[in-house]
Amino acid sequence: MARYARHLSLEGWDQDVISSSHVLIVGIGALGCEIAKNLALVGVGNLILIDMDTIETSNLSRQMLFTDNDRGRLKAEVAKEKLKILNPDVSIETYTQKFQDLPMSVFEGVDLIAGGLDSFSARFALNRLAHELCKPYVDGAATGFKGNVQVIIPEGDPLLKDATPCLRCFFPIPPADEKVYVACSIPGEPRSREQCILKAEDEFVKEHGIHKEYSDKELDMIAKIASRLSKESPHTKAEEFMPHEVENIIENKIPSILTVNAVISAIVSHEVLKILHRLSGLNIGEIMSPSYLEYSSSYGIFTPVEISKDENCAVCGKERVKLSLKMKSDSTFADMLSSLKKEGVDLKETVLITKIIDGSVIAAPGQDIMGSRLSDLPIQNRDILRATYTSVDENGKLKREQAEFIIEMEG
Ligand SMILES: [Zn+2]
Repeated sequence: MARYARHLSLEGWDQDVISSSHVLIVGIGALGCEIAKNLALVGVGNLILIDMDTIETSNLSRQMLFTDNDRGRLKAEVAKEKLKILNPDVSIETYTQKFQDLPMSVFEGVDLIAGGLDSFSARFALNRLAHELCKPYVDGAATGFKGNVQVIIPEGDPLLKDATPCLRCFFPIPPADEKVYVACSIPGEPRSREQCILKAEDEFVKEHGIHKEYSDKELDMIAKIASRLSKESPHTKAEEFMPHEVENIIENKIPSILTVNAVISAIVSHEVLKILHRLSGLNIGEIMSPSYLEYSSSYGIFTPVEISKDENCAVCGKERVKLSLKMKSDSTFADMLSSLKKEGVDLKETVLITKIIDGSVIAAPGQDIMGSRLSDLPIQNRDILRATYTSVDENGKLKREQAEFIIEMEG
């Protein structure tokens, strides 16, 4: 307790509550390192860290749990070692695969979830998981000079009182995370530095196969191809490219600075501490309200944003239509539409179909995929899909409608 002496006279504070808490931190990057450091030092007794990435040189300017010698090692494992030095009392479990692939048993014992993820699709998946588990989720995000925190309190916990909107209530259609890769398909000569790099990667992949990650040597090879392309293209000046620029573009790395990350992580961590106390019937302060806060470091301004619960939210809404479609794996997209029609959902031709879990697009208006087999589309068994379509009501007026359905693949 001597370690926590300065906490003990904080009004309402209970170090035993903190010591017996279990917090899951997903993403041990710029935000996750800070959150994990904060919670370990404060004495949160049990931390579960999930991150599948390895440490790269460009992490070292922001992720204070990692140093030069850690490059190439798994973030979650190195973080565990460093956190044990910062506070040996804390027990730490690590997982180095995608959280979506972990068994539910990993999450069931946690009191709450803190997210420090940099991709929208992963944040949406975590939002859904937290909802399914009925666990509070504190989401932090930072891009460049801006950041935001959202506290998500699930319905039905008597100690936490007011449920809040979820991440999906605020972003009903998730912003695309798609990498700038789509630019690759631009025909003809590259017209910008970015396109030179993307086309260079395309060439590299044709020769050497698809890579999930590139070594420094491979990045250098792609940089050299990009330089050649910039000379060949009539639209660009001959330019030199550096491997780290190549990496930023092809991995679509977002700009990031530790000061903003530290501010956001500190707010996330403190909300976590308040919720942990609440869960034990104690009070060290009201949970952040409004539940969404934006920070602009450029102006030094914090903006609380009122958001409201979307009754039709794909994750936490109550009024959801849910159909279950049993489809053979060799059935086509057209077969799926006719099964939907039998269920009273007539999509006709103008239709946007997205995956609920991450908002990724399965079908967009104007695409011809009627003959495509479901097994060739990015649909997995038990995926929940949302169709947005127009229908005509009895007065001949066009109406925008949405339907959700689960695909159950057979055979
Ligand atoms: Zn919601």
